[in-house]
Amino acid sequence: MSVRLDFSSRRQGPIVGHNLIAEIPGLDRKSEDEAIVCAHYDTVWTTPGAYDNASGVVALLALAEALVEHPLARPLRLIFFSGEEWHLAGSRAFVEDLNPKELARVAFVLNVDGIGRGRLLEVSVGPESFEWNVKRLVDSHGRRNGIRCVTRFPPLPGSDHAPFYEAGIPAAHLTFNDWQILHRFDDTPNDGSAENIVYVIDLVLHLLGHLPERAAPRASGVT
Ligand SMILES: [Zn+2]
Repeated sequence: MSVRLDFSSRRQGPIVGHNLIAEIPGLDRKSEDEAIVCAHYDTVWTTPGAYDNASGVVALLALAEALVEHPLARPLRLIFFSGEEWHLAGSRAFVEDLNPKELARVAFVLNVDGIGRGRLLEVSVGPESFEWNVKRLVDSHGRRNGIRCVTRFPPLPGSDHAPFYEAGIPAAHLTFNDWQILHRFDDTPNDGSAENIVYVIDLVLHLLGHLPERAAPRASGVT
């Protein structure tokens, strides 16, 4: 048996992506201490992208609704990044555009990327002092339905928290890793991840309410 496969491709010109940024002012108008929660909305071309990363986008939309109703003390930016699957183009451009004063205002970044099936929440996070705080708060939030959590330091380089972390900002990447469908044609909506999406929304609200003010700048070099 022979199979014939035709593949036609062509170079495009420059492609423009758009990050969508929602700013939610804090109740404390004097607070300079800003939190960022982000999720990328692009996918690789081979997949519908329900897990990677419509799940994260749904979580951010729900957070926007909850936080407009009940704002935090600190100001918050919810960022829907484009170009994550293209060398983190959207988040890299965003961080590059921040001036030193704006960079110093960012207390931490929570990146919601891939809420799949299963019971294991993986948090890739740094620096270690921030890992400790996140771990403590995940524990105090309580585990539902047998959800376990593992934290890993240093944070993995492959998602939108990475440019922030490289710029010295405490950052965490939250995922229920569903690698069996990652970047595949069968990454389609399924009921198995809905409960985890609800869990992550509640957990992020808990983290936003309790993570401490901006820590001292991270020391450069290996920790
Ligand atoms: Zn992703």
